[in-house]
Amino acid sequence: MSTRIAVLPGDGIGSEIMPQAVRVLEIIGQACGRTFELTSAQVGGAAIDATGFPLPVETLDLAKSSDAVLLGAVGGPKWEGLEYERRPERALLGLREQLGLFANLRPAKIHAPLIGASSLKPEIIDGIDVLVVRELTGGIYFGTPKGIEKTSTGFRGFNTEVYTTEEIRRIAKVAFEAAKKRRGLVHSIDKANVLESSELWRREVIKVHENFSDVELRHMYVDNCAMQLVRYPKQFDVIVTTNLFGDILSDEAAMLTGSIGMLPSASMGATVGMFEPIHGSAPDIAGKNMANPIGMIASVAMMLTYAWNLSEEAQLIDTAIEKTLEEGFRTKDIEGPGTTLLGTQEMGDQIVKQLKALVA
Ligand code: NAD
Repeated sequence: MSTRIAVLPGDGIGSEIMPQAVRVLEIIGQACGRTFELTSAQVGGAAIDATGFPLPVETLDLAKSSDAVLLGAVGGPKWEGLEYERRPERALLGLREQLGLFANLRPAKIHAPLIGASSLKPEIIDGIDVLVVRELTGGIYFGTPKGIEKTSTGFRGFNTEVYTTEEIRRIAKVAFEAAKKRRGLVHSIDKANVLESSELWRREVIKVHENFSDVELRHMYVDNCAMQLVRYPKQFDVIVTTNLFGDILSDEAAMLTGSIGMLPSASMGATVGMFEPIHGSAPDIAGKNMANPIGMIASVAMMLTYAWNLSEEAQLIDTAIEKTLEEGFRTKDIEGPGTTLLGTQEMGDQIVKQLKALVA
């Protein structure tokens, strides 16, 4: 069976971490008898340099005609002076828009050997495994009316938080389906005690839940959730929430694990999904073989699970990462006493070595 993947390394460390992810994908392909047809294209600053546009038509066409998109990162100081529409980051919005990526999935999982890297006490974070499902294309970031108006005494800035039945139901479904593959618990986060849009959110989530009797649903106000995430994060399995609340809570959840270089993400839509690490192009360490490739490699594992239900193969990748960390290998961002410091390529070598042993 042939599966087409658009490989978009992007800028900065993107071109250093992507080759490590591709190596892992090739090993998994061989192991599960699946042909991954990988086609690379430029995106972000690299695409601006080559074509003048952050998301060239050829790249967008490739993404649309693929079964999944694997993205590194975009952006960097070189392109910061460009007008907003021409900046590398526009490519991300363009891809989200054009692929209809309405659901952003961000896991925050602690690897046992890295417990010391978190700012929270080990007993609080030991064993956390949270998945934040954030609505990505609706809510206050897109609602109208919005703007800044002059008043007699100054200005008035305003935005509109708006959600429809369809928008809420489709994201709730993603969350319940994800929970079925995990521990079977969904926390729906809202502010239904104050906001009408949240009242509708809660009502619609309850409706969708009727089709998922094997998943438990709990509701929580967003202010309480922000507190509970640092008080007792182990109570959470899947968190589903709006664009604004998800933006904030997913960063909070990510920081529980201590390092930005470790975490993957998935953006899901009607057909094609996009998989990328949560970090940016890290211009401060780009080109120095210092970047941690684990977030990128873990994005491959997410792609296998969420695009094609290949959870067992995804688990092999997670195990290879875990074993590499257990052996004490670290990139600079997660280095600690008694560990062995490796570069991007060498960290990739170790994960590949572990993976080869697991699939042998
Ligand atoms: P960043 O995530 O690139 O870097 C923040 C810090 O984390 C830096 O010190 C960096 O060295 C470190 N870091 C990030 N990833 C790492 C990794 N894999 N290994 C080790 N250390 C890592 O965020 P920033 O500095 O705010 O942004 C840099 C550029 O990236 C900007 O142009 C920004 O717009 C862009 N950006 C892109 C994306 C994306 O492509 N999805 C996301 C965020 C930021």
